[in-house]
Amino acid sequence: MSHFLDQEIQYLSGVGPIRAELLEKELGIVTVRDLLQYYPYRYIDRTKFYKIREINSQLPYIQLKVKFVSVRVSGDRMTERLNAVVTDGTGFLELVWFKGVKWVKENVKPEKEYVVFGKPNEFNNKINLVHPELEELTKYESQKNSTFSGLYNTSEKMKKINLHSKAVQNILRTILDTLKNDTIPETLTNEILQKLNIPNLKTSFFDIHFPETVERMQKAQFRLKFEELFYSQLYVIRQKLMVKRNVSGHMFLKVGDYFNAFYNNRPFELTNAQKRVIKEIRADVGCGRQMNRLLQGDVGSGKTMVAFMCMLIGLDNDYQASMMAPTEILASQHYETISKYAENIGVNVKLLTGSTRKKERELIAEQLLSGELHILIGTHAIIENHVRFKNLGICIIDEQHRFGVAQRAKMWEKNIKPPHVLVMTATPIPRTLAMTIYGDLDVSVIDELPPGRKPIKTTHIYNTKHSQLYDFMKQEIAKGRQVYIVYPLIKESETLDFKNLQEGYETISTVFPKPQYNISVVHGQLKNDEKDAAMAEFVSGRAQIMVATTVIEVGVNVPNASIMIIESAERFGLSQLHQLRGRVGRGAEQSHCILVTDFKLSEDTRIRINAIVGTNDGFEIAETDLKLRGPGDIEGTVQSGLPISFKIANLAKDGQILQLARDYASEILEKDPDLTTNNNDILARQLKRQKNNQKVWRQIS
Ligand code: ADP
Ligand code: MG
Repeated sequence: MSHFLDQEIQYLSGVGPIRAELLEKELGIVTVRDLLQYYPYRYIDRTKFYKIREINSQLPYIQLKVKFVSVRVSGDRMTERLNAVVTDGTGFLELVWFKGVKWVKENVKPEKEYVVFGKPNEFNNKINLVHPELEELTKYESQKNSTFSGLYNTSEKMKKINLHSKAVQNILRTILDTLKNDTIPETLTNEILQKLNIPNLKTSFFDIHFPETVERMQKAQFRLKFEELFYSQLYVIRQKLMVKRNVSGHMFLKVGDYFNAFYNNRPFELTNAQKRVIKEIRADVGCGRQMNRLLQGDVGSGKTMVAFMCMLIGLDNDYQASMMAPTEILASQHYETISKYAENIGVNVKLLTGSTRKKERELIAEQLLSGELHILIGTHAIIENHVRFKNLGICIIDEQHRFGVAQRAKMWEKNIKPPHVLVMTATPIPRTLAMTIYGDLDVSVIDELPPGRKPIKTTHIYNTKHSQLYDFMKQEIAKGRQVYIVYPLIKESETLDFKNLQEGYETISTVFPKPQYNISVVHGQLKNDEKDAAMAEFVSGRAQIMVATTVIEVGVNVPNASIMIIESAERFGLSQLHQLRGRVGRGAEQSHCILVTDFKLSEDTRIRINAIVGTNDGFEIAETDLKLRGPGDIEGTVQSGLPISFKIANLAKDGQILQLARDYASEILEKDPDLTTNNNDILARQLKRQKNNQKVWRQIS
């Protein structure tokens, strides 16, 4: 028979098929173990009773000892509600029920004392509790209550069938009572438990749900967080070791003519960070293993140059190289930059996108197979099956978060032995997140901007100040500068957003009339050639203003553009704002980023805006973003389908535990890479079990 932990919860008393179905739908909880791993989001001290005169609407959940003074039911069947007044001798308090009215009305007795538990609200200048939990005092006292009581998140649908926090707690109580005399199979080795002096799994389950003391609760929390992070690290590190061991890579043994010819005529001196990263990559591609490396560098840090020089090392060893970008605009821009670099050293570069003409496609196909074509740059068009290389040795993937796992996997198949993969991202990722989702990649960081850049000045203004803003734009344009104005766009097809941009454009073209001013417009509803034409207008300097949606977000490089205006900035995410700002500040002039918002802003939005105004440091912004949104929402992680949603660990707060977990995992794998020694078979089994339960584990970079 399967262990009790693996049994479905629907057969437990207090659950049944309806609740079980909802728990599965809403929270993915099926088995007893799943429910045990549904941890409280906070605790309240059940030994503390508030007095009515002490309470205010700022308090969290509280409990009181009260007697009922009056009970009044009003409304018809649809609008029925029950208002009760209770007292504890220090004052009176209103309790309100909209549901379960009948039960309350028939069961509360004026002579009895009750324990009431709920969150104080303010309504019409009066404090009340809506739908409080209610229990007779004698009953409450007869139970063995733990000192701290956990609160569990429940959805609206769950509340509708009375499956509120207390009900979840009751089911857990039943489960733990059943388990009291059972053993729960341990999921960490004795060695780890002893070294860290942490409780075993069974104790931890008891102490996380029904802690007797704060210390016990904290110990249980630590253990469960550690375990979760430990297995995530064990997985990624093991994955990395396996690729290192089993996948051999193309050997780029020498640095030759292409590299040297270019280096000797380089357009500018490389920054130290660029040099260091090229060295790191060189060591990787020359050691016989396949490179899987992430290159992080803030916008404008010069990743393209690094990518190009790494491709040249491939060329010097008779391999071909490719570079993939998420949009046509970006791919074309890379193509232009790289063709210019390649011009004088005899490197053949071509561009392949969805709009490449048939004849050019045929030429590309031919030259790719013969080896005549050295570097292919493009959009996802280059990963299509019919695109065949003679000998692809290295591929660069720019702005990684736009690409899915499957697309990257396809690059691996472009040669018998997979090519080296360099993933470049300008989205700074907090260290903890990077360790988790890119834990199996080697990471290089360009942490230095090319010299001579003036830090961008960022200001926040309200949308009542547009006329001053237009004056400022006119001054800057008179100095020969160019301006971006960006409007929000959630989905490229949303007509509402389009209207936003359209209206903006109309205003701008009235304030900045032809022929004195030229405005180019770029948005997702344009055809590619229209988009390219509009871009070209701006890049060439013929247009002084570009009105755009976020299509310009990634990578576009116009050094003369020094003003970035973001309209309705409150509608953008932090990392998006940072990316947009990164479009300016690329030339020698002072650049400005101006965030325009409505006057009314939510607390979160204020924090976001202040963060952007306060710093130019992408990593700092990423940390703030992580704290505000939690890891699940950080840009790039959702699309990447990576398993980063933890049940108890929090990447924004548990960085130290994560580091500890990583150290333990590496040490264990170093000594026992296959986890076969006696003690470690627990780890191997648990890893396998977790892997089977994961819906998406990524295969590759
Ligand atoms: P990103 O890292 O955002 O992709 P780019 O590669 O587009 O940055 O580089 C931004 C700009 O900086 C480009 O105009 C590029 O020519 C320039 N650049 C890159 N490296 C250097 C350097 N070492 N010195 C001066 N300018 C540089
Ligand atoms: Mg770039």
